[in-house]
This record gives sequence, C-alpha cells and structure tokens, in this order.
Amino acid sequence: MNSELESSNNILLALSEILPEKYLLTSKEDLKPYECDGMPAYQRIPIAVALPSTVEEVQKIIRACESLRIPVVARGAGTGLSGGALPHEGGIILGLSRFNTILDIDHENMTMRVAARSAKSGNIRGCCALWFVLCARSVIADCLFDWW
Ligand SMILES: Cc1cc2nc3c(=O)[nH]c(=O)nc-3n(C[C@H](O)[C@H](O)[C@H](O)COP(=O)(O)OP(=O)(O)OC[C@H]3O[C@@H](n4cnc5c(N)ncnc54)[C@H](O)[C@@H]3O)c2cc1C
Repeated sequence: MNSELESSNNILLALSEILPEKYLLTSKEDLKPYECDGMPAYQRIPIAVALPSTVEEVQKIIRACESLRIPVVARGAGTGLSGGALPHEGGIILGLSRFNTILDIDHENMTMRVAARSAKSGNIRGCCALWFVLCARSVIADCLFDWW
C-alpha cells in the first residue's frame, strides 16, 4: 500500500472514532458540494469532511490530522469568494456548519458574538433587520420632530 493511501485510511479510521458516522462524510456524492467555495474556478475533492459540534471534537480532529500530517481546511458556509475554503490535495475539510448559534446580542451597541458558521444565518439577518428598522424609525422620528 502506498503511503498516501495508508494515511488516508488511517485518518478515516481515526475520524470514525471521533465522530458519529453521519457527521463524517466520505462518499463521492457527499464530498462533491465541498470541492470548492464561492470561487468555483478551482475545485478539489477532499478525502473526507468532518462535521464536529463541540470544541473537544475539533481538538481531537486537529490532533489526529496533525499526527498523520493530513492538511485541514476549515469551512464555514463556503461562501467566501477567494478560494480560501478549497480543500488541499489529500486533505480533509473541517466543516463548521454545526456551530451555528448566536452567543450573545448587545442591542444597544448593535453587536453580537456568533459561532463560526453563523455568518449568514437567518437569526443574524433577523437581528440586522430589527436594528435597521429601529435606526430607520429613529431617523424618521428625528425628521418629524425637526419638521414640527
Ligand atoms: C452571493 C454572495 C454575497 C456576498 N456578500 C458579501 C457581503 O455583502 N459582504 C461580505 O463581506 N462578504 C460577502 N460575501 C462573501 C462571503 O459571504 C463572506 O466572505 C463570508 O463571510 C464567508 O463566510 P463563510 O463562513 O462562508 O467562509 P468560508 O468560505 O467557509 O471560509 C472563508 C475562509 O475562512 C476560513 N475559515 C472559515 N471558518 C473558519 C474558522 N472557524 N476558523 C478558521 N478559519 C475559518 C476558511 O478556511 C477560508 O479560508 C458574499 C458571498 C456571496 C457568495
């Protein structure tokens, strides 16, 4: 067995001990959507996509890949337009789609802390829409008061 194939088999085995089967994607059909991000000019199929949901799982995955010298590319929603989430040759994708929570919201300062994959989530759009409405309302109110 050549060493590349051996590393692939070893990492698949290591990852299968970390993640439940449904969160370790290895079939051709499951890997296809991860071959590129928002820049489809470059495409590369990873050997696997790992979908952890806890920091501990991420740590174990990174340790396993480090010890087997397997390249890892993190991926949020894969909407980046510069090919940053393009898999490496013989590498895996660390998919962060299960980290999709809002950690806290500060309405007064219109800021929020979110987990890695929340960048385009509906909740965030909802918050931004609310802030937009509140800003618009106060601008309209200011104008009306000035006018009176
Ligand atoms: C239709 C469309 C509209 C867009 N509009 C805008 C816009 O208005 N404003 C704007 O700023 N951008 C816009 N973008 C670009 C894109 O949505 C943003 O760059 C977005 O923030 C990328 O987030 P992502 O989770 O999809 O990152 P990905 O594409 O998954 O990753 C981007 C890079 O970050 C790395 N990465 C991802 N998650 C992690 C992590 N947790 N830890 C370490 N590295 C990580 C990846 O390896 C990659 O290098 C748009 C894209 C599209 C397709």
